[in-house]
Order: sequence, then C-alpha cells, then structure tokens
Amino acid sequence: MDILKKLKKRSIRVTDIASQYWCEKQMELRYLYGEKISKEEIKGKIIHEMLEKEVNVPLQLEPKTYADYVYKILYTNWVALNELRKNKKTRELQIFGFIEGFDVIGKIDELDIRNNKVSVLEDKTRFKDTVPNKEQLLSNKVQVIYYKKLLEDMKSGKYSNYTFRRAYNSANLKISEEFARELSVYNVNDETKEIKKIEEMFFSSIKSIPGISDAMYIRYRNQFTNKTIKLYKLDYKEEELNNINKFIFGYWKGEREALPVPENESWKCNMCIFFKNRCNVWSGKIQK
Ligand code: SF4
Repeated sequence: MDILKKLKKRSIRVTDIASQYWCEKQMELRYLYGEKISKEEIKGKIIHEMLEKEVNVPLQLEPKTYADYVYKILYTNWVALNELRKNKKTRELQIFGFIEGFDVIGKIDELDIRNNKVSVLEDKTRFKDTVPNKEQLLSNKVQVIYYKKLLEDMKSGKYSNYTFRRAYNSANLKISEEFARELSVYNVNDETKEIKKIEEMFFSSIKSIPGISDAMYIRYRNQFTNKTIKLYKLDYKEEELNNINKFIFGYWKGEREALPVPENESWKCNMCIFFKNRCNVWSGKIQK
C-alpha cells in the first residue's frame, strides 16, 4: 500500500518519525482525521517564534506562489547559516533528506558552534517544571538523531542541490514579480533572485559549516516562564539510527499496519483525542 498517498503526503516529516515512537497509530489518525493543535502546541509555537527573532533577522517575506515559497525557504536558510557563522548560533533551519527512497524534511530549532563543531539543539515546551518521562524523551531523542543525520547528509553533499531539485521540481521555477519586489527591500540583487542561484548559495554554504558534533541537545522549557527546566546532552550513534530506520520504514513502505501502543503504554491513550472514537485498541482495558 502507498502510505504517503493514503495520508495525502509527499514527504515524511522528522516530527512524523518522532511521533511513530510515541504512538504510530495516533500519528496516522492525525493525518487521516485532521490534526488537532492543542493550546500547549500553540504556546510552544509562539515561544519558538520569539526565540527565532532573538537570533535571526526576521524576514517579512510573503510568498504568493509555490516558487516564492521554495525561494523563501532557501533564502531564509541561507540567512540562518550566515548568522551561524557570525554569531555561532542560529535558529529554525529547514533541512531535507532522501532516505530509503523517501523525501524527508525537518526544521532544526537551534544550531550552535561549540569547540568548532556544530551541534543540534531541540527545544520542547512543558506546562510544568517537571522533567519528561522516558517515553517522551525517547520520541524527542529520535527527532534529534534524525536532524543530525539529515544535516550530516547535506553537509557531506550526499543530499545536494540536485537531489533537492528533483524532489521539489525547482529547476524551472520562477518567483513572482511581487515577491521579487519584496526581496529588493532586503537588497537581494537580480541574479540572486533566481531559484537556481539561491539553491547553489544555500547548498554551498551548508557544505562549508564546521563538522557536525555527535553531541546533541534537548532543552525543556516552561511554556509560561520560558525558564529552562532541563538540558539533556545525548550522543549520536549510527547503530541507533539504523534501528530507527528498520522500525519506521516498515510502516512507510506499507509492509505493516500502523502500530498502536503496547499494553504497558496504554496510559498514553488517556491523553489521546482518538481514544474510544477512532481507536478502540485499549478501550476495554482502561477508563477515561
Ligand atoms: S488510543 Fe492509544 S493506541 Fe489508539 S491511537 Fe491513541 S494512543 Fe494510540
């Protein structure tokens, strides 16, 4: 079965992969029956935007067409990498990959240069000053492992502007005149307004960043006070990535159905909007 088609998607998000480690069935149901964004997620998004403005130059570009949208991502990424070079820190870098025949996309919250190495940091917001449980930590860990992998592939050229062009049909795209006028405000010259040019600039820039560190960070913040609750430092291991790939692609390749949580994790169902409506796997076992 073509799962991407079933979920009306064209690529896999890194957050989808992380969600597979929380409850794969819930991730699938979200696509099939609408993603409900909770108040906590909205608050988390606002904090992310505030943090991005602290570091990067806020770009008020409004894409009108698909080509404008592609351009904006590449240009914003290029600006973010310049920021990394200048201030040893940047936020909200969109990354791309091609793994096991699937296009994969993600957005890294923060990159920092420490000891001449670039490290990946993921911010998570919590509504209380408590540390996450091991299941939440695992799902967040999978996310940073994947960010590191995609970033590594882009830096090494394994994922290049040619791979990007194929994935996003960007070879013949042209930005709209209105969008080109907006870019002039940022002193973007006519040559740089070409998608091909900004693609080359971004991909060559990412190749020249310092080596990617095996140390990865997850920072939990209180969503009301913005205070850091805990910063976890994790080590990247190739073997862990291989195990993740074995598990997740079984689903995306249609080799198996989406898995519900096992019985010992059925407490997660109490927090799930699909419990006892779209999903009855554990409805006879637990009370909501
Ligand atoms: S009810 Fe439980 S098993 Fe079903 S989708 Fe939700 S979390 Fe997963």
